[in-house]
Amino acid sequence: VIDLDHNATTPLDPAARDAVLRWLGAPANSFAVHARGRAAHAAVEDAREQVAWMLGVAPDDVVFTSGATEANALALGAGGESGTHWVCAPVEHPSVTGWARAELPVDDAGRLSPQDLAAHAGPAVRGVAIQAANNETGVLQDLVPLVEVAHARGWQVHVDAAQAPGRMDLHALKCADSITLSAHKMGGPQGVGAFVVPGRGRAQRAGLLRGGPQERAVRPGTHAVALIAGFGAAAEASRDRLARAGELAARRDRLEAACVRLGARVVGAGAPRLPNTCCVAFPRVQAADMVIALDLAGVAASAGAACSSGSPRPSATLRALGFEDGAVRFSLGHTTTDAEIDAVAARIPGLLARLTA
Ligand code: PMP
Repeated sequence: VIDLDHNATTPLDPAARDAVLRWLGAPANSFAVHARGRAAHAAVEDAREQVAWMLGVAPDDVVFTSGATEANALALGAGGESGTHWVCAPVEHPSVTGWARAELPVDDAGRLSPQDLAAHAGPAVRGVAIQAANNETGVLQDLVPLVEVAHARGWQVHVDAAQAPGRMDLHALKCADSITLSAHKMGGPQGVGAFVVPGRGRAQRAGLLRGGPQERAVRPGTHAVALIAGFGAAAEASRDRLARAGELAARRDRLEAACVRLGARVVGAGAPRLPNTCCVAFPRVQAADMVIALDLAGVAASAGAACSSGSPRPSATLRALGFEDGAVRFSLGHTTTDAEIDAVAARIPGLLARLTA
């Protein structure tokens, strides 16, 4: 199978796998005082440094969670004055729109504008959630001016950066008040992520759970040492991946050009995008049918996000951008080869011909 569904989940990086296996099954509670406990504690703290390094924040700013869904819930669902609410655009992930009102307008690439944000009516707004990169289209938001406007209005900013690591430089993100990361979108294991509060110190944040002192009680519960160690190793490996983002973009562009030659419209064309994502609507074809045809032809792709598939309706993001028949998302990884791209590009014309016959 040719895996072009890396935005759903990435293959485990070999270094991350080694780190996971080193700790998996070890009776190592990072809060135990004996030597094994201290070793586990050191592994968690090493991973905290590795994750913090990616964003250029202090290790103390990082709270480990079970993934991006939980990190978004911590940002948007914990604390805050009653009677106030978060706002966002309809292109956000469901783990954000589940908490924030999806009422901000976007352009036809799904981007927010600082002008619209400045003009948005919102006496009871607590903050705005802005994704770094869209999981379906790869479109990037222009974070720095948006954060300036939000802060000028006294609003907090939360950034869901689940799709960003290893694909774009993350250092600009720390102008936000909090950031979400997910290990399994960047070569780490599933079931671990981070809620990052740059410069504020995680101790001051409210949590959702009650329990022990782990993560300074913002996120109590025994550390998943193996998963956290794997996340740290993946963060370390992302340095190298970022350096190869240009090769990734070149492969994506080749596949995209092949689709465009067949009449496909590119979602978010012209907007800045992640180097790995190509989201295209083929004429006279339902995206869901194309994904099934691709699957039968040995290619894993998706019709929008995995979180919204299972339903035949295109996702809220694609509907908001006017793609009522959905769009096919090809998301490449650092393991994707030129030969795989050529093979997929060669298979698409036959599949299209069959689906439109
Ligand atoms: N936010 C975005 C932008 C995502 O793409 C995803 C994963 N589809 C999530 C949040 C949820 O991530 P997790 O699986 O780690 O809960």
